[in-house]
Amino acid sequence: MTSPIELEEIYGAANYEPLPVVLVRGEGVYLWDDEGRRYLDMMGAYSAVSHGHCHPRLVRALTEQAARLGVVSRAFYTDSLGPFLKRACELTGLDAALPMNTGAEAVETALKAARKWAYAVKGVAPGKAEIIACDGNFHGRTIAIVGMSSHDQYKDGFGPFPQGFRRIPFGDAEALEAAITPHTAAFLVEPIQGEGGIVVPPYGYLAACAELCRRHDVLLICDEVQSGLGRTGKLLACEHEGVRPDGLTLGKALGGGLVPVSLFLARRDVMDVFTPGDHGSTFGGNPIACAVGLEALDSLIDEGLIEAAAELGPYLADGLRALGSPLVSDIRGRGLFIGMELYPEMATAADVCRRLMASGILTRETNRNVVRFAPPLVITREEIDRAVDRIGQTLGEMGEVLAGRGTPALAPA
Ligand SMILES: *Cc1c(COP(=O)(O)O)cnc(C)c1O
Repeated sequence: MTSPIELEEIYGAANYEPLPVVLVRGEGVYLWDDEGRRYLDMMGAYSAVSHGHCHPRLVRALTEQAARLGVVSRAFYTDSLGPFLKRACELTGLDAALPMNTGAEAVETALKAARKWAYAVKGVAPGKAEIIACDGNFHGRTIAIVGMSSHDQYKDGFGPFPQGFRRIPFGDAEALEAAITPHTAAFLVEPIQGEGGIVVPPYGYLAACAELCRRHDVLLICDEVQSGLGRTGKLLACEHEGVRPDGLTLGKALGGGLVPVSLFLARRDVMDVFTPGDHGSTFGGNPIACAVGLEALDSLIDEGLIEAAAELGPYLADGLRALGSPLVSDIRGRGLFIGMELYPEMATAADVCRRLMASGILTRETNRNVVRFAPPLVITREEIDRAVDRIGQTLGEMGEVLAGRGTPALAPA
């Protein structure tokens, strides 16, 4: 019989390179493979699973809604969209929200809103609007979005790209000031760069950017698809600096680890540039997405998941630091959004992840030779202790290999 892995290889596209494990079940912070082995999930599906796998409350919201009313399109009103948008606006302090499905679509929506706002409200000359983004950004995979990327592989072979984007160094507010022109519509930024390698900018950066944007009538749009919804120990990562953006994108954990749900949220005058027929999505704002999204927001608050991230994040980071591994050059992050960078001449993050899998921990590397730790926010201290033990063992074994005393690196799968 053909294995699930072979089936993906035969019938799929090779745009991912999964670790060789076939997952069949999830519960809380745990995942099980097709041989009954249990793994601790230290990745949380790129932060899409903050509530834990198959959270009963979210599964109930999903199944009850699915049994009552599924997709009807935005051609009609439903009783689920309004309450979801209201809750999202109340929690984030923004005036209005536009529902999409994926993070990339929320970002595309933000880009369209910013451009139209620049023409309709700011008075930028037709066709001249510019959007500033950062080196090392990750905002998704559409053609416009990869056109903004500084990562060659994301763009290679996919051009030509839309015009009207500029890039500046991340973490440098002076570079933003220098890049702003009378044509600038918006500055799009991740408060902490996720796929870029869990990069935390210097404290005060975001507040300085917000001030510059206000002074120059430029929209500050925070992409919190990954950093938002409690991951960093606040509902939004921009709250760490007391910043309220003009536009905001949410996704990933908004779907409760069950369905794709994303939002573009904004000030009223920004959202008001959209008129009927301007923009849309067949599945955006469908009742199942809204029911799960609303429950995901409520349970984040009710279950104290934001506070848990604030408390357990430093606990995990301290535990990793206390390992004192000579392979590790940096441990950084905020809340349960942590990157462990390795000296590239000593170890690859990919090899660490393969070895961690063998010891029952699942995660993946990210940019710049960084091992990502972004577990579901329901993880406990004991589970963190166990994870840190195993990570310590793994790093220890790899250190032995370097010293010529251990088994060689596992061959790539
Ligand atoms: C993952 C991510 C996206 C894209 O989300 P998709 O749902 O994969 O389209 C956008 N922005 C940030 C910051 C992300 O981490």
